[in-house]
Amino acid sequence: MNVRTTIDQPLHAEGILSPGIWAGRVFQGRWIPSERELIEVREPATDLPLGTVGSSTPGSVLDAVDRAKRAQLTWQSESPEARARILQRAAALLQDNHDTLIEWIVRETGGLRAKAETELQGTIGELFHSAALFIEPEGHVLRSANSGRLSIARRVPLGVVGVITPWNFPLLLAMRSVAPALALGNAVVLKPDPQTPITGGVVLAQIFAEAGLPEGVFQIVNGGADVGEALVGAPAVRLVTFTGSTRVGRRVGELAGQHVKKVSLELGGKSPFIVLDDADLDAAASAGAWASFLHQGQICMASGRHIVLRSVAKTYLELLRDHTERLAVGNPFEENVAIGPIINRRQIERIHDLVTSSVASGAKIITGGTYAHPYYRPTVLSGVTPGMAAYEQEIFGPVAPVVIAENEEHAIQLANDTEYGLSAAVQTASLERGLRVAQRIRAGMVHINDQTISDLPGIPMGGMGQSGNGSRFGSTTNVDEFTEWQWMTIGATPTRYAF
Ligand code: NAD
Repeated sequence: MNVRTTIDQPLHAEGILSPGIWAGRVFQGRWIPSERELIEVREPATDLPLGTVGSSTPGSVLDAVDRAKRAQLTWQSESPEARARILQRAAALLQDNHDTLIEWIVRETGGLRAKAETELQGTIGELFHSAALFIEPEGHVLRSANSGRLSIARRVPLGVVGVITPWNFPLLLAMRSVAPALALGNAVVLKPDPQTPITGGVVLAQIFAEAGLPEGVFQIVNGGADVGEALVGAPAVRLVTFTGSTRVGRRVGELAGQHVKKVSLELGGKSPFIVLDDADLDAAASAGAWASFLHQGQICMASGRHIVLRSVAKTYLELLRDHTERLAVGNPFEENVAIGPIINRRQIERIHDLVTSSVASGAKIITGGTYAHPYYRPTVLSGVTPGMAAYEQEIFGPVAPVVIAENEEHAIQLANDTEYGLSAAVQTASLERGLRVAQRIRAGMVHINDQTISDLPGIPMGGMGQSGNGSRFGSTTNVDEFTEWQWMTIGATPTRYAF
């Protein structure tokens, strides 16, 4: 494979990412040649090719799912401890390949090294938490209608789980489904986003194969919507976990409904960041900048609206502008910057459309508002009001829309004035006020005196409203998500009936 880089050196590609094994191939229990045209992966910062992977057809998706179904029967009868050991080995392999993986995450997603580090450590955490799931209780002993019989309810694996992931945190968002699904005895077929199939797919295939996962228990299918829909529609897939936009999530939910299967949707957001009038405004501006600009705002939990009480809005805007103007923009692989590239040209144009249409409706650019592909300058908008594009729509770019609230009650009303409900934050000097406000916000996560972007393996991660269908990832909630109940009664002798 011919890999060019901006520094005229081969991409760091040792160990598990040595491309000789996977370039141009698809992982269906082993690396097989592509059935369709190859998918070329390009670095968002430079547009240079980073590698190629094979792509799948809807027909090969069905083959992969059938293979997974057969492999799952043996996998579920392995002891939970044996399954956990494979996950622990996979975690160790990620740590052993740390430097290679950080480099690939930075280059494939266009994120900072610190973002890549968080993603890698979070992924390792998901593996360790999932490996520990076998110590959770897995059922109940129930009251029996007949004293001679034992009545139990137990959790059983679902079978094959289909996982569809986005490009922004490809390794972590894949692993948060793949690791618990495997730990609990399921087989998995993963479809990563075609923009990030290496850190979102190849890495997982390589570590699980090297950790000793039996062939067929984990497979990858590569491609876009047709491949994703084939996975959702495959009869043997009993759960689809989908992370991505609300638009596509609705389609996935609809298809899953047609096939009567479980679906877990983790979707977009427009998370409110509330600044009350007693807040430490400089700390709030720092947290607010982080929450809107980390990974160029391309995070589902990014703060999509800064809701600020009128009496402190002028000072907050000045401080937010100062924090924003300090942020260096450039290629995070080569420079020490805070803002890297936007994932693709379509997205950068969409960000600019949302900014310009909001300005046309009366919003004011305090700083930023311009771009030179692939970089969008971090932007602060003031005077944002309901009805404006920057108020209503998820931007998925480095834009902080500031909305003025007249008082605490109005701030709560604005915070809830969205179809989304992923994350929220409240800044205040009063814990009592913080709790009073936080308890009235409809969101899957609320942080008092912090910002909206936060995720850990042990927490119940998920959104309300159009941010998700109420399913949750994380620790023990994974047992609910990746297994189902079975009621079993047991008697030593046959029961006799009246006829
Ligand atoms: P997207 O919805 O465009 O794509 C997500 C995945 O769905 C990709 O793998 C894509 O190939 C696949 N896909 C596209 N059409 C499909 C179809 N018809 N059937 C099946 N699969 C299909 O999302 P994106 O642009 O990659 O990611 C950004 C979005 O994801 C944002 O809205 C963001 O908020 C959301 N997101 C949510 C979370 C969360 O945990 N809630 C995390 C990260 C990103």
